[in-house]
Amino acid sequence: MTHSSLKETITKLGEKGFRAEQIFRYFHQQDGQSIMDIDIIPIKLREELTSYYTVNSLRILHKLKSEVDGTIKYLFLLPDDNIIEGVVMSYSHGYSMCISTQVGCKMGCSFCASTKEGLVRNLTAAEMVNQIYEAEKDLGIRISNVVLMGSGEPLDNYENVVDFFDIINSKLGRNISLRNITLSTCGIVPGIYKLAKKNIPITLSISLHSPFDDKRAEIMPIANKYGLEELMEALRHYSAITNRRITFEYTLIKGTNDGEKEAIEIARLLNGMLAHVNLIPLNPIREYNEGRPDKDHVLKFQSMLKKLGVIATIRREMGSDISASCGQLRRSVLEEK
Ligand code: SAH
Repeated sequence: MTHSSLKETITKLGEKGFRAEQIFRYFHQQDGQSIMDIDIIPIKLREELTSYYTVNSLRILHKLKSEVDGTIKYLFLLPDDNIIEGVVMSYSHGYSMCISTQVGCKMGCSFCASTKEGLVRNLTAAEMVNQIYEAEKDLGIRISNVVLMGSGEPLDNYENVVDFFDIINSKLGRNISLRNITLSTCGIVPGIYKLAKKNIPITLSISLHSPFDDKRAEIMPIANKYGLEELMEALRHYSAITNRRITFEYTLIKGTNDGEKEAIEIARLLNGMLAHVNLIPLNPIREYNEGRPDKDHVLKFQSMLKKLGVIATIRREMGSDISASCGQLRRSVLEEK
């Protein structure tokens, strides 16, 4: 629950609003685990709350640490036996965590392991914050940056994701700055307008993967629903309202979307926009037969973009030895089962 919905609940139960603040602090600042243990609130309220509500918890099922760069990947077990992934990365500016927003995903991108089993269910806001809290407790650290780039499509779970922002950013809780949060989407246009309307200063990251509608639709079924023109219009609107630079993720697939004509079209598409392209060389998965371009080609693609005036970086790869990308580990564990 966000602090405001908790306050509403508490008031409805005939209690003073400040009790909500005490309860919220207990769970989000003091690592509290049980309603009955909140001894600064009256026992009657504790009992009442316990009869209506439960405290969400998830358990670390599996933990892998990369020998290469210290990246840590968790598999978390949810109370209904579903499994999700989260990844903690260490940077010079602190710890960043990539969390999942859904169990599985229904978007069907051809190269992505997260979607191969379809969507099982949305994660609640509690399950999103708890991925962070469990990792923090386990490692004895504080997470300062969050990316919604794990399994799932965040804008397909809009309400819970917005509640997650509210909770994780709360001054009564972890108070992680919204500017340190990135939401990655395959391009669900109505969700982008809803986010713009809220004017939440997160960083929006768009999975582009091709600047051509037909090719994009081959790789990403969502492109059949929302074409590039419509998507770009939504992004220009988002950018005008929030004044935030938009990131475009571009997974480079050998011989598919890594040619000069793509670079030229990307530059045309992003012309005049506050944008930045992040190149991700494909991490091949079994269900997708295409390959990964070699390093020289990735550098060449980057320099083509730069010559065309597009700011482009190559994503630093982390945890490549521990299946750290999108849904890979969960999928291998499900297969084993
Ligand atoms: N559903 C959201 C967020 C999840 S994926 C989205 O589509 O943006 C985060 C990023 O990783 C996306 O850009 C996705 O396209 C990319 N990705 C997924 N699987 C990949 C793979 N096997 N190789 C390279 N990039 C991948």
